[in-house]
Amino acid sequence: MSAASEAKDFLSSYDGKKVRIMEVCGTHTHEIFKDGIRQILSPQIDLISGPGCPVCVTPADFIDEAVMLALEKNCTITTFGDLVRVPGSEKSLADARADGAKVNVVYAPQDAVKYAQLHPDEEVVFLSVGFETTVPSECLAVQQAIEKGLKNFSLLTANKTMPEAYLAMKDATDAFLYPGHVHAIIGTSVCEKLRDEYGISGVCAGFTPSELLVALALEVKGLSRGEPFFINAYPRVVREEGSPKAVALTEKYMEPVDVLWRGIGEIKNSGLALREEYSDFDARKKYALPHITGRDNPACRCGEVLQGKCTSEECPLFGKACRPEHPVGACMVSSEGACSAFYLYGRH
Ligand code: SF4
Repeated sequence: MSAASEAKDFLSSYDGKKVRIMEVCGTHTHEIFKDGIRQILSPQIDLISGPGCPVCVTPADFIDEAVMLALEKNCTITTFGDLVRVPGSEKSLADARADGAKVNVVYAPQDAVKYAQLHPDEEVVFLSVGFETTVPSECLAVQQAIEKGLKNFSLLTANKTMPEAYLAMKDATDAFLYPGHVHAIIGTSVCEKLRDEYGISGVCAGFTPSELLVALALEVKGLSRGEPFFINAYPRVVREEGSPKAVALTEKYMEPVDVLWRGIGEIKNSGLALREEYSDFDARKKYALPHITGRDNPACRCGEVLQGKCTSEECPLFGKACRPEHPVGACMVSSEGACSAFYLYGRH
């Protein structure tokens, strides 16, 4: 019997004490749904979708800032596609585009640098929204802009880092399913520190069905033993030291800042913004953006979904007013969002 089959049998027949496991990563959420893993779990195992989708945790303030840059500062916005339909307080970037703004979807920050080089008459802003995994390539884009002498390229940042979020969410779960790609960058010593100093348990997991089943079985077995634990169940990719080159690149250009997470609030030092010496590439400073306090649609329960306080299906708008083709909140827009996963792979 393979390790995955054994894990599957264990997870479906588990009859110990009830356990809660938070999958922090949006890709994990979607893979777990797509692979039908939720359906085989014993009712004693609760899976909670956490705040690991970067678009979902980006508050309305940020969309409002991007809309202001596009419509009032006449900037060309370059962004990954998911952000275009996320509602701001009044408009999304798609609405701004309909009003005449230039909003271009790109597949990498380097595409935005190329665009800026080819269009010297435009002020190009790339929306830098992501976790430790995407920030190094945004730093590389700044490095390229410096090397090319570009004065018309900048970043609007809303990057976030996971370790501070684990601490902020620790009471919402019994253990974390740690995102493999984040820990491929930052390594695993942080997980050992969380275990040793805060009693936080978790397993670092890969993304295939068998890797997820084995990681979940390790979670439940670890929780049954009753002692804080950490297991790296994704050793083919995740090493204790992570990727020192990517970390060094990030540390050269970015520094930790306090940032707002949708639904969770401000978490100290959980963001990454450009260092003062690179402020020429910081769109907030370059275009003197005012402080904006955004307003989310009060009917949307994304904030509670992201904290595991309710499921997407418990939101009264789910599948009715809020659907992927007409999203009310960020969790339905993003390809990594919990509501879109529930909609795509659940009973809808
Ligand atoms: Fe928000 Fe839509 Fe999810 Fe409800 S279903 S929480 S409205 S994104």
